[in-house]
Amino acid sequence: MKLFDLTGKVALVTGGNGGIGLAMAQGMAACGASIVIAGRNAEKAGPALASLRELGARCVFVAGDVTKKTACVKLVADTLAEFGRLDILVNNAGTAIRKMPQDYTEEEWHLVIDTNLTSAFLCSQAAYAPMKAAGAGKMINIGSMMSLFGAPYATPYASSKGGIVQMTRAMATAWAKDNIQVNAVLPGWIDTDLTRRARREVSGLHERVENRTPAGRWGSPPDMAGIAAFLASPASDFVTGTAIPVDGGYSIGM
Ligand code: NDP
Repeated sequence: MKLFDLTGKVALVTGGNGGIGLAMAQGMAACGASIVIAGRNAEKAGPALASLRELGARCVFVAGDVTKKTACVKLVADTLAEFGRLDILVNNAGTAIRKMPQDYTEEEWHLVIDTNLTSAFLCSQAAYAPMKAAGAGKMINIGSMMSLFGAPYATPYASSKGGIVQMTRAMATAWAKDNIQVNAVLPGWIDTDLTRRARREVSGLHERVENRTPAGRWGSPPDMAGIAAFLASPASDFVTGTAIPVDGGYSIGM
């Protein structure tokens, strides 16, 4: 399985202390990577680190709010200080606020855009120099079905996730000659804290997703582990600028 071998590689996963980010970290840990998980909530980090150690990974938690440039720069610096290299960046941290477009405050708009999109830009910027110096790198940006579709209650979220796809394409073209591959993953509906809240706030959402998804079920975080291993590994060295749905067919069904 050398194609998917991540032995000796180091991955930084924002929002890696739970949900999709942790599952992606686990997928890469299972292939041999060392992991830095970043987030604000240090309490969630304990069990997350334990699960990564069970897979044999060296791993640490670094606290930081990725809406701030200083925090993004520090996450990369701390990764280099801890492990001496940064091979893989997963821009996963995200949030949502559900309202009709006319009801958002300017602060709410900026919170969602900054958490989901600006953070990915800033972390990628910070990761570029060490990856270029190393002659290789992998960046994985987390989009959404809202990168493709609209919804009445998701104006800033859909804007941020649409932006993730275009940012991915732009950076992929800029950095391809540096042997840095930049790709986006578009998860379907995955059962996490984020969507548990959505199910409480949007009546009928659970059934609508089940009925519309050709696979007939919600995804679970482990469904996201394989795509992370693939996009982080030598198996994807000629794959760049893509936006890959991992959605049980949600985006191609009717
Ligand atoms: P979770 O709420 O479980 O995870 C979100 C993570 O982001 C948390 O670990 C949180 O950590 C971190 N985070 C949020 N804000 C910040 C911040 N300002 N600074 C640092 N970390 C932050 O949700 P999911 O796992 O579902 O979401 C992960 C990603 O996947 C998001 O980008 C989301 O938009 C995307 N996604 C999810 C889908 C789903 O169905 N679940 C579908 C499509 C996309 P902490 O609280 O410690 O800060």
